[in-house]
Amino acid sequence: MGKKIFVTSPALPDLNEYQKFLKKIWDSGQLTNNGPFHSEFENRIQKYLGAKQCSLFCNGTLALIIGIKALRLTGEIITTPFSFVATTHSIYWNDIQPVFCDIDSENFNIDPTKIEALITNKTSAILPVHVYGYPCDTSSIQEIADVYGLKVIYDAAHAFGVKINDEPIANLGDMSILSFHATKVFNSVEGGAIVHSDPNLKKRIDYLKNFGFANETTIVGTGINAKLNELLSAFGILQLDKFQNEVDKRKTVAEAYRSFLENLKGIKFFYDCEGVKHNYSYFPIRVEDLNGKNLRDELYKYLRENDIYTRRYFFPLISQIPAYRNLPSARPENLPVAEKVSRQILALPIYGNLELIEVERICTLIESFTKKRI
Ligand SMILES: *Cc1c(COP(=O)(O)O)cnc(C)c1O
Repeated sequence: MGKKIFVTSPALPDLNEYQKFLKKIWDSGQLTNNGPFHSEFENRIQKYLGAKQCSLFCNGTLALIIGIKALRLTGEIITTPFSFVATTHSIYWNDIQPVFCDIDSENFNIDPTKIEALITNKTSAILPVHVYGYPCDTSSIQEIADVYGLKVIYDAAHAFGVKINDEPIANLGDMSILSFHATKVFNSVEGGAIVHSDPNLKKRIDYLKNFGFANETTIVGTGINAKLNELLSAFGILQLDKFQNEVDKRKTVAEAYRSFLENLKGIKFFYDCEGVKHNYSYFPIRVEDLNGKNLRDELYKYLRENDIYTRRYFFPLISQIPAYRNLPSARPENLPVAEKVSRQILALPIYGNLELIEVERICTLIESFTKKRI
């Protein structure tokens, strides 16, 4: 038996550097409300992601909720069931009906060929997710949105720093939402952002995240409190300096997994896509059924017994949780690909400091499982 290995382990800034920043915060006495660290972090995220506009948030979920509200969406939003629950919850929190669309069998993102059939006179937007940081078919999605006059919000919670042909994904659609949660490839403990290119929209978003305050006495609209504080902004600034190093280390881990797992029967995984700068935020494998029998949960348990804690991202499907499973679009027969992938997917541990010897141990366990079972 080895040491316990979890699916992720957060990258951390240098403690001494962080203490210097904390000292500045103690000296200034400004803990939150758009202080100097917040302003600097917002500017730096905007530049790093190559976006024209950026607003920081205390988490990605509130960024999603406010993004939908700022675009004044109504009626129905077409989205994917193969994501973290926050994607659909944010639609529901705006009193909008989520409409689930099946996913593509290759990249597990929303299948653009299935969107059109779901559009009604109530549809106001499409909310796709770049699952595991692998980009959606954004040009097909935009084409549909343009024809039908729909907005597009990308849940880019997994896609920090991802680029397609040198173009940052932050500039796609009407806006993209990011999460800086501790489990994500870039983290500020908790945090999030909305990036887009419309200066007026930025104003509206910033009012909404601060109770609707336009100035000391003018309150426009019914805002909420979703601000990122100075302590986490300072933390995030230090993290940004180390981000590329984290990605490089994860790339080595991903490549090690690929070489170990390459010839294992019944195990599939993603390769890099041409023209895409990846962030290696997750390393999902697909465990294929054997004679109609699902083996994913057996492998999950077997690895746990050996102190390897993988995660079934994403199982159950969002369309199968009690809050949504009675929606007409949630019927399993409407979502065959998502249903199947959700039963076969397993996210293996990946983080910058994961040692290659541990990657080898995990792969040896998977190999002995497949030899026994397949
Ligand atoms: C993590 C995540 C969110 C929510 O982000 P938080 O910062 O944890 O609120 C939203 N969507 C997806 C796809 C996520 O993985």
